[in-house]
Amino acid sequence: MTRGFKINENEKYFRYELAGSPSANMLFTTRRGGVSEGRYSSLNMGYSTCDSKENIYKNRAIVLNDFNFGIDRMTSSDQVHGVELRAVKSCSDDAGECDGLFTDVKNTVLSMYFADCTPLFFYDPVKKAIGLSHAGWRGTVGDIASKSVEFMKQNYGCCAGDIVAVIGPSIGCCCFEVGSEVEAEFREKLKSISVNEYISVKEGRAGKFYINLKAINKSLLRSAGLESENIHVHDVCTSCAKEVFYSYRRDKGDTGRMAALAFIG
Ligand SMILES: [Zn+2]
Repeated sequence: MTRGFKINENEKYFRYELAGSPSANMLFTTRRGGVSEGRYSSLNMGYSTCDSKENIYKNRAIVLNDFNFGIDRMTSSDQVHGVELRAVKSCSDDAGECDGLFTDVKNTVLSMYFADCTPLFFYDPVKKAIGLSHAGWRGTVGDIASKSVEFMKQNYGCCAGDIVAVIGPSIGCCCFEVGSEVEAEFREKLKSISVNEYISVKEGRAGKFYINLKAINKSLLRSAGLESENIHVHDVCTSCAKEVFYSYRRDKGDTGRMAALAFIG
């Protein structure tokens, strides 16, 4: 079954909405509307930065307050660019080191943090399970996309054909330049899709390659059984849109983090 879908935007976040599923909340924050200053200005959500802890706490509270939640509703993990996934049963669970969080428990706010890597959101309107995963280039090469679908099938009895996915804001192939070692990993490890279609070169940039991570993740989700119409790509580049997003690459590593938040209300 395919579902109507729209993106609503306010200053602080993009909200991905599915027709007929008002209880599915999937959000991606911007850098606007918070209290952090300087290079972290202003809605920095991530503690893995040198920003003041107090400001990050306030920023998280500002966002959650829109939903009448305290920050004690948030659960997160230590993201390690791997492919481990966890089922969260309550917001006090310690998810440890992993790069995907899933739940079917209401009002448990899953959170992951990004500054260029690709956020993947998942929701199954039939089984009412929701999830998030962190697909940087390593997670993408490790096929965290289809591992996430498999995880939802095993843990919540989902059918791939019912799952809706959002591929959120991340670095585009305009800016995601890599050398030949990284390019070789994509070619060697992703055999289930025709990866050549998603790798390009530019004149004057010999030995460099431009990889379309969003399109690769979409293709991996298709090969995992999702309907094309149920995969929504938010086609914006975090490195190009500097008024809206932090970018690890553009800002040379010292920058804030956007949050991907997912919960069933
Ligand atoms: Zn770009």
